Amino acid sequence: MRRQMKNTTLTQEEEPPSLQGTQLFDYDCKPSNSIVRKLWPSVTADDWNDWYWQLSNRLRSVYALSALFDLKPQHITKYKQLIDKYHYSITPYYLSLIDWTDPNDPIRQQCIPDFKEIDYVSVGDKDPLAEEDDTQVAGLVHRYPDRVLMLVTNSCAVYCRHCTRKRIWQDGESIRSKKELLAMVNYVRGVPEVREVVISGGDPLTLNIETLDWFLGELRTVSHLEVIRIGTRIPVVLPMRITDELAGMLSRHRPLWINTQFNHPREVTPEAQEACDKILRAGIPVSNQSVLLKGINDSVETMKALCHALQRIMVRPYYLYQCDPVKAAEHFRTSIWKGIEIIEQMRGFTGGLCVPTFVVDAPGGGGKIPLQPFYLLSAAEDEVTLRNYEGMIIRYHNPIDKAPRPARPAKNGKVPVDAARYKRRKEKTLFSERPQ
Ligand SMILES: *Cc1c(COP(=O)(O)O)cnc(C)c1O
Ligand code: SF4
Repeated sequence: MRRQMKNTTLTQEEEPPSLQGTQLFDYDCKPSNSIVRKLWPSVTADDWNDWYWQLSNRLRSVYALSALFDLKPQHITKYKQLIDKYHYSITPYYLSLIDWTDPNDPIRQQCIPDFKEIDYVSVGDKDPLAEEDDTQVAGLVHRYPDRVLMLVTNSCAVYCRHCTRKRIWQDGESIRSKKELLAMVNYVRGVPEVREVVISGGDPLTLNIETLDWFLGELRTVSHLEVIRIGTRIPVVLPMRITDELAGMLSRHRPLWINTQFNHPREVTPEAQEACDKILRAGIPVSNQSVLLKGINDSVETMKALCHALQRIMVRPYYLYQCDPVKAAEHFRTSIWKGIEIIEQMRGFTGGLCVPTFVVDAPGGGGKIPLQPFYLLSAAEDEVTLRNYEGMIIRYHNPIDKAPRPARPAKNGKVPVDAARYKRRKEKTLFSERPQ
């Protein structure tokens, strides 16, 4: 049977079984988990491992929250306001990873709505990366010379509370029409510089297989397009969605890369490993883009444990993102020094394959800027002073027969975007203002 996300939007107005008075204390990611037993007393292992069951049984209503937390009436009202503005949805699988004995559990903080989201209502930006400014056709952001970003859907299996694109949640759960998807393909067809597309959203793997297959096929008719990349959190929040059928379909559209988003070592479960393994065996490399999140993964120990766990399942840590100053996610942000410190304590101390690049995606559409610890202490024409990871200072000479340093940075291809973008670039002040 073909299953589509579209049919699974649950309104769940009926009240789920109450958890009042029960201890929500054991933690394992199986249907035997006590909270899972309470919410879905008759779930079988087959259902549990079926992505469609997982999707259909997501928690999405205020009733589900009140069942979890035994809410008082005033809290129910406030949660209602909160989720009316920023909806939520949690797969039973992801819910089962929460350790309920820990109020600051890293899984819980990523998926359970928090009043802080509306308490700091004036802080942050709706669209901190100014993606709307660089949108060329509906859903297509063209910011860099040789690659474009495509937002193909608003739907995700789980809505991460720290999401940079919280602004698109207000449009509800929908995917772009075929007409809109074709308009994006045609844009790429018209710009020969584009060699890579990044398909994101929302989560592109919430699309049904036929639609995704059709869309990837359309993209493949563009002769100058070399590489397709899919950004998805499905391996983390709904790993059973990675079926042999899906992996087989994706495999036919290579060269294809998948980037996912594990943020905590506890998300690297046997289920997630199996999902990544299916993708890898289909000949598709899997990389990871973590977001640096306060109280969740902002320590050297946690980040190292995460990156080691990822390397064990053969997922390459690619980026560590500074959390964007997005509205309703201010409470997740850390100082940039934290990210630099984490990299500084990993680089050299552990394998280079586990060390991501720390990036700040600049407000105002400046794009990704990598930040490194300071290894270049001083620089002259002939000689530089360097520092290694242990703090050893090294003088390093350029070759005697050297080419002169370039007077200005090389121009690496133009940014083939509208004149308005150039104008905006000029107008932008060097420093974005500190939010009040
Ligand atoms: C992040 C991003 C990309 C991809 O950038 P990489 O550095 O290649 O990962 C492309 N377009 C936009 C608009 C982006 O934000
Ligand atoms: S999966 Fe990605 S797009 Fe969806 S809510 Fe999470 S961060 Fe946002």
